[in-house]
Amino acid sequence: MARVALVTGGTRGIGEAISVGLKNAGYSVAATYAGNDEAAAKFKEETGIAVYKWDVADFEACKEGIAKVEAELGPVDILVNNAGITRDTTLHRMKPEQWSAVISTNLDSLFNMTRNVIDGMRERGFGRIISISSINGQKGQFGQANYSAAKAGVIGFTKAVAQENAAKGVTVNVVSPGYIGTEMVRAVPEEVLNSKILPLIPVGRLGEPEEIARCVNFLASDEAGFITGSTLSINGGQYMA
Ligand code: NDP
Repeated sequence: MARVALVTGGTRGIGEAISVGLKNAGYSVAATYAGNDEAAAKFKEETGIAVYKWDVADFEACKEGIAKVEAELGPVDILVNNAGITRDTTLHRMKPEQWSAVISTNLDSLFNMTRNVIDGMRERGFGRIISISSINGQKGQFGQANYSAAKAGVIGFTKAVAQENAAKGVTVNVVSPGYIGTEMVRAVPEEVLNSKILPLIPVGRLGEPEEIARCVNFLASDEAGFITGSTLSINGGQYMA
């Protein structure tokens, strides 16, 4: 039986590439999303991957959603915590809602999701938790106190949970992308991209979502069983942690 992989925010952007990469590697994949039904329907039609809608910031919704996935596909062996949002503004302008939305979607979600799969992984003696952080969680970013705090929290969470579960065959790791050529980044005017963004990246180009997906695939594999608590930076040399 194929192992089951659940990818939060797996219907668009980097998450879409991760879902497709895992499917192509032979996993049985569930992709979740928050509200964009149109994008999810298109993704399902194109890939044949099962989609599920719930808010990762809501603990009870995660519990119910995971129970549904497990009833339909089987126990979750690989969890990819990818769903994330930004609400950028400088701290002196930031409203409590902008802080809370980013912390709950990007960081509370790790507790909400991982807490609801960890018992099963420990019982079965195998599991992979892979969470997507960001270069801006490692180095900080102007206008992103909320996002940088949440993404740095992803790394701390991972190091603690990795220690707790290492002896049970469960590895816990972070993938930390730099600038990736998703729709959002590609919408930046070419002149801004060429003059402001690309000069920061020694490799001289944006990353591809598939480059993130390949690392997730590796960390999910049996071959990566000795890697836990680590952060894999995929940023073209922009920041070397
Ligand atoms: P996108 O905005 O393209 O896609 C986000 C996905 O997450 C969508 O499927 C969205 O669902 C889902 N999502 C958002 N909020 C929730 C929620 N509350 N509950 C459930 N699902 C939710 O994101 P990216 O591909 O750009 O980013 C993916 C991850 O990579 C994020 O964690 C991001 O912080 C990180 N990252 C991205 C970088 C980049 O260059 N793009 C760089 C560094 C890190 P729906 O479609 O319904 O909205």
